[in-house]
Amino acid sequence: LARAAHQGRRYRLGVMGGTFDPIHHGHLVAASEVASKFGLDEVVFVPTGQPWQKRDRVVSLAEDRYLMTVIATASNPRFSVSRVDIDREGDTYTVDTLTDLRRERGDDTDLFFITGADALRQILTWRGAERLFELAHFVGVTRPGVPLTSKDLSHLPSDAVTLLEVPALAISSTDCRDRVRAQQPIWYLVPDGIVQYIAKRGLYPVPGVGVPDDR
Ligand code: ATP
Ligand code: MG
Repeated sequence: LARAAHQGRRYRLGVMGGTFDPIHHGHLVAASEVASKFGLDEVVFVPTGQPWQKRDRVVSLAEDRYLMTVIATASNPRFSVSRVDIDREGDTYTVDTLTDLRRERGDDTDLFFITGADALRQILTWRGAERLFELAHFVGVTRPGVPLTSKDLSHLPSDAVTLLEVPALAISSTDCRDRVRAQQPIWYLVPDGIVQYIAKRGLYPVPGVGVPDDR
């Protein structure tokens, strides 16, 4: 993006990691709000790699999740998408994401990792947790149904995490997938292009209805 405009000061890069299966307006509002409050130059969305072992559910192909993220963010000049996690083999760890982005973007960039309250809760169980706070400042955004207070963060370094209230959007990817399977609408929960992409690719098929297995 327009780096030339930022000569003489450090570039402020937001990082929004997620499965994005599918990306929805909760993700986009959170990123937009953090960008505004923290004066970010750019927010890069980073879809996670394909889990080797499908744990409790089948995750859509990385390429579909990547393209949905591109479609949803394309109209915002400050939003971009990175392939670092989907091009790296194996499971995605945030410490690797941040290390790769830091290497790519150089030393004059400050990273702000944007994460929902649910994900922030697990922060210390993440691999490389001690290194995470050296790589980025963490911004925890509120999420309906997941209470989050500064007390929850009392075990973390005090300058490592900022909590931010964003307009509460009770939208989750899980609910969007369930709705598609139940043939209920997801219009206005996700961008229009995502509704159309899901239909075009036959993502989240109705149980019992056959889908070609060579997708
Ligand atoms: P799933 O239901 O499949 O877990 P999700 O809606 O939680 O999907 P993810 O891709 O897991 O979406 O989330 C990526 C990041 O966005 C996480 O940090 C998550 O906490 C945050 N996030 C997701 N939905 C919201 C929302 N409605 N408001 C604020 N943050 C959100
Ligand atoms: Mg989630």
